[in-house]
Amino acid sequence: MIVLVMQIVKYPSPVLKQKALPVEKVTPEIVSLLDEMAETMYSAQGVGLAAPQVGISKRIIVIDIREPARLIQIVNPEIISAEGEIEWEEGCLSIPEFTLKMKRKAKVKVRGLNKDNKLIEIEAEGLLAVAFQHEIDHLDGKLLIDNISSLKRELYVKKIKKAAIL
Ligand code: ZN
Repeated sequence: MIVLVMQIVKYPSPVLKQKALPVEKVTPEIVSLLDEMAETMYSAQGVGLAAPQVGISKRIIVIDIREPARLIQIVNPEIISAEGEIEWEEGCLSIPEFTLKMKRKAKVKVRGLNKDNKLIEIEAEGLLAVAFQHEIDHLDGKLLIDNISSLKRELYVKKIKKAAIL
């Protein structure tokens, strides 16, 4: 079976600002999407990807922080508990050439559906916890770049547009 690599939607595309809708059931179509998203994440060398980043406004994420390597594909993810604080310099596949130091919860417990439509819980800390919070933010239309001033955002868009032309 050929798994397609999808195109990653870039900021300021409106789909990135939408609140994504929950998935009713993990159907074979959703399983294919989970695999295409994983392939897309690996090919872009990211550690996580949310469905809105491939233009699909559904509550689906994939994560693999590589060290240790473990592919997590989860539908309707929800943070059910969180504790501590951690600071991490984050980037985003939808916001090229932009990083921002963010304060996040150091440990989270996430609940959601796996590929078999079964409810699972995952405990995460460190980078994995950061990745969960970053990707779940995407499902609520929240972006890393929302944390800087609107003036700085405009400058970023100008810079990126210019770079794309040259
Ligand atoms: Zn992102």
